[in-house]
Amino acid sequence: MEVSELKKSETGLFGALAQLGHEQVVFCYDEPTGLKAIIGIHNTALGPALGGTRMWNYATEQEALTDVLRLSRGMTFKAAITGLNLGGGKAVIIGDAKTQKTEAFLRRFGKFINSLGGKYITAEDVNMKTADMEYIAMETRYVTGLPETMGGGGDPSPVTAYGTYLGIKASAKKVFGNDSLANRKIAVQGVGQVGMHLVEYLVKENAQVFITDISDEKVKDLTSRFRVTPVNQEAIYDLDVDVYAPCALGATLNDITIPRLKCSIVAGAANNQLKDEIRHGYMLQDRGITYAPDFLINAGGLINVYNEYLGHYNRKRVFEQAERIFDTCLNILNMASREKISAQEAAIKMAESRIEEVGRVRIPR
Ligand code: NAD
Repeated sequence: MEVSELKKSETGLFGALAQLGHEQVVFCYDEPTGLKAIIGIHNTALGPALGGTRMWNYATEQEALTDVLRLSRGMTFKAAITGLNLGGGKAVIIGDAKTQKTEAFLRRFGKFINSLGGKYITAEDVNMKTADMEYIAMETRYVTGLPETMGGGGDPSPVTAYGTYLGIKASAKKVFGNDSLANRKIAVQGVGQVGMHLVEYLVKENAQVFITDISDEKVKDLTSRFRVTPVNQEAIYDLDVDVYAPCALGATLNDITIPRLKCSIVAGAANNQLKDEIRHGYMLQDRGITYAPDFLINAGGLINVYNEYLGHYNRKRVFEQAERIFDTCLNILNMASREKISAQEAAIKMAESRIEEVGRVRIPR
């Protein structure tokens, strides 16, 4: 039977794995601590599957499974296109992050990770804090993203912001013929850890920056430090700007927002910006908007934790590696125009071809 036939004929859990191409999914349960977690290992052709752990009060187990499958697949592409020797993985813990995270709960989770012998490496994600990672690290060495005081690489956000900034510049080069952002109008949605650093790069280059955030405090802080124009949350989609940079939530590129956009470029740090990866990628393209794939230009954080995991962490080297995002982004955008496909599809295609080619020759460690 052909693989494609197998995929079509599989239903249920294995059908979902076949459809997205997962290698392994591990369900973790511990009655005394109440731990319920799922570890998704999408692909280890290039190296161990690295991806953070997210804790969320999922309404259903199916919702948690869907999340871990989707997120771990995204990590495979992110690592592959960034040129890292990593596969893609992710973990989700089902539960209330405010009440359930005891020392025993987290250490039990660490033990589950350890049982995979390094096939999966974890890091922080939504609702997981540095202190939680410290407990996990007591039971396994397959954890990264630790604080500087523990020999880790510290906050990855400045590196993520730098890569995103370079992704914006590469997109400007493609669209306007040069990568200067001086006097370009740029709208940044979400000025949290990444958005705040991104604004700093943009202002330094004399871009005209518009910002929005649900936190008035963050907006106030940035307007007091930089020459930026605050706008309200909804107005961000209607601005007549060159670049819209989503740095808050996922799925902000959808049927409702895309028709409102007046920008030439969408390039930001948020994960999963396209509500529908294929349809909304083409919807942007049809409207003449250039889209810099999120998983490529926000890979600075992954570069940071990968370097930490390798040991001998060197911040300068991390920023040097993040610099490659500019060329990769430009290559992807050129490939998309050449092959008349969306930039998202071009990026996935490039990632898949590296997995295929390098995965075949590399000696597994
Ligand atoms: P953060 O929580 O520090 O910042 C997000 C900001 O968005 C917050 O200030 C929040 O108030 C704001 N926000 C939320 N909803 C909003 C809305 N509707 N309108 C406007 N603002 C809103 O998170 P972060 O670490 O800066 O990450 C930002 C995005 O980048 C996330 O999607 C994250 O998954 C992605 N990302 C982050 C990193 C990293 O290194 N931190 C790496 C890769 C991807």
